[in-house]
Amino acid sequence: MSLIKLNDVWKVYPNSVKAINGMSIEFNKGEFVYIVGPSGAGKSTFIRLLYREEKASKGEIYIDNVNLSQLKQKEVPHLRRRVGVVFQDFKLLQSLTVYENIAFALEVIEEDPAKIKQKVMDVLDLVKIKSKAKFYPSELSGGEQQRVAIARAVVNRPDILIADEPTGNLDPDTAWSIMDILENVNALGTTVIMATHNKEIVNTLKRRVIAIEAGRVVRDEARGNYGYEV
Ligand code: ADP
Ligand code: ADP
Repeated sequence: MSLIKLNDVWKVYPNSVKAINGMSIEFNKGEFVYIVGPSGAGKSTFIRLLYREEKASKGEIYIDNVNLSQLKQKEVPHLRRRVGVVFQDFKLLQSLTVYENIAFALEVIEEDPAKIKQKVMDVLDLVKIKSKAKFYPSELSGGEQQRVAIARAVVNRPDILIADEPTGNLDPDTAWSIMDILENVNALGTTVIMATHNKEIVNTLKRRVIAIEAGRVVRDEARGNYGYEV
């Protein structure tokens, strides 16, 4: 059984823009998948559908056996424990330290307070930023902030990590260090789905590539290439 399954999914925004036009696709546990395609193709919309930031207009999206269209608003936090998300612009809480940003993600899901410290320190170790636990986001480089964002997204050991252009704001060396961490997260069993415009990364780390154009899957390759000029 697949971990994620889309069955003829459509998304029309309230302004009548048709962002996703009949997508059917499946992802298995442990996969690492790149989502590529031109600007405006629907990549971000696809990603927002997966963590129920947006609802499909038509069709079904299943994570395991949970139909996201039928998920009640009060059940969304439960989904977010299974699906971690990172963004191009990190979205850390600026008034909290690195430690507090991650601890907060555990507090909101009512983690046992006695376990929070160990979990935060373990995940900071995973993303190699333990020495900066007491720093504020504004005191960190972009690459360091993205590590913290990844730590926050995976501290609950989600089945799925979704990343929307996670290296988009980073220089090439820093982008590679972030890929190193995403590869480690994937090696621990988390399915990683990453939208990207980074041709070099996609072409070097041969993984499944799904190309989206005008809201449709136009290519799905097991060990694909980026396939566009940049
Ligand atoms: P990509 O991530 O590939 O650039 P998007 O999913 O952001 O593509 O956008 C797909 C289409 O949907 C575009 O035409 C975009 O302008 C439109 N769109 C994206 N978000 C919204 C929104 N919140 N409301 C209305 N239209 C949107
Ligand atoms: P809202 O979307 O209403 O602002 P959310 O609970 O969706 O509230 O998100 C709160 C913050 O946590 C946002 O910065 C969001 O980017 C981040 N976030 C939401 N879900 C996750 C997740 N599963 N993993 C990591 N960060 C998340």
